Amino acid sequence: MKNLCRFCEAPLHHVFVDLGMSPPCQTHIEPHALNDRETFYPLCAYICDRCFLVQLPEYVSPEEIFTEYAYFSSYADTWLQHMKSYADTIVQRFQLDKNSRVVEIASNDGYLLQYFVQKGIPVLGIEPAGNVAEAALRNNIPTIVKFFGTQTAHELATEKGQADLLIGNNVLAHVPALNDFVEGMKILLKPGGVVTMEFPHLMRLMAENQFDTIYHEHFSYYSFTTVEKIFAEHGLSLFDVEELPTHGGSLRIYACHDGDTSKPVDCRTAELKRREEAAGCARLETYFTFSEKVKQTKRKLLEFLIRAKGAGNSIAGYGAPGKGNTLLNYCGIRTDFVDYTVDRNPYKQGKFTPGTHIPIHHPDKIRQTQPDFVLILPWNLKDEIMEQMSYIRAWGGRFIVPIPEVKIY
Ligand SMILES: [Zn+2]
Repeated sequence: MKNLCRFCEAPLHHVFVDLGMSPPCQTHIEPHALNDRETFYPLCAYICDRCFLVQLPEYVSPEEIFTEYAYFSSYADTWLQHMKSYADTIVQRFQLDKNSRVVEIASNDGYLLQYFVQKGIPVLGIEPAGNVAEAALRNNIPTIVKFFGTQTAHELATEKGQADLLIGNNVLAHVPALNDFVEGMKILLKPGGVVTMEFPHLMRLMAENQFDTIYHEHFSYYSFTTVEKIFAEHGLSLFDVEELPTHGGSLRIYACHDGDTSKPVDCRTAELKRREEAAGCARLETYFTFSEKVKQTKRKLLEFLIRAKGAGNSIAGYGAPGKGNTLLNYCGIRTDFVDYTVDRNPYKQGKFTPGTHIPIHHPDKIRQTQPDFVLILPWNLKDEIMEQMSYIRAWGGRFIVPIPEVKIY
């Protein structure tokens, strides 16, 4: 396999971080399949020395990952609040109404589009996972089951018309054919229309040691500076950016067609580029320091777990997210440390975590078994989870948050 940058096609010579071998993170194991063979793929991220895009080669195909995807966005409360306030703000800012068209790429179960439907604005969701799209259709959110790219964009532009607002939240990281995807947005966007996209910010990933957000589903990791170059290559200009707390620190970028003078460029864009430059985002050496930090985090977490188990403590997990899979597999944490984990998503309950085979139960299991420690795997939701689970204090239970480094609450 020739290893070329998926944006600029330069050869990839430099490893960003090597997290060993890992199974795809959403393939939760059914009890009857526990003794079957599992496929592990390399989890080695590279940095392009020409455009500074951090990326995983396409070890696992999108068809394998996304056609039956277990993540239903609606299960996270804070995420829903975040989406509702986005819908309120964007409708007002760009004056969307019943004559507008809102299209969301990777619309999941319709968690976001529902807020536009409530306002009487026509919507269309594009979602590659059939089982997830069905959930959207049951909620009366028009959704087509497709991967997005230039071909889908041409079809939709012809059959249904272009979009006034084109949304892509947490999809840009998931796209292997990046240039075809961004070109598709150019095609589907109405003249005068707006694209907004949210994705985890590479600068935060590095600063806060969020190595577990690297998994096979996430093909690319972006700084603002690099994403601006990618959009510019396809005739789209970034005119605004917001920094969000979601997923450990994300960016929301706003794009329009090149030459659309109705969208003045906000000073936040230049300010963020200055900060990225100061943080060393355009110097290869900056990226080389990350790997050692990751190894140290693993050693510290294992030291803590070994001590806790040595003292006779019981440990349960909370959540079975993709990032948890990277953490557990990379650190080699199985039922020797964590008895079980729990997840609110019924789709995951009764199954086992990929590779590490930790059983996944309903959250009530924690109340029943009263573990001494609860390891929070979706650490980006730690405040919400600690509040929901505060009852573990009654038996002296404490929380372990593994990232940016192991911390007990
Ligand atoms: Zn490149």
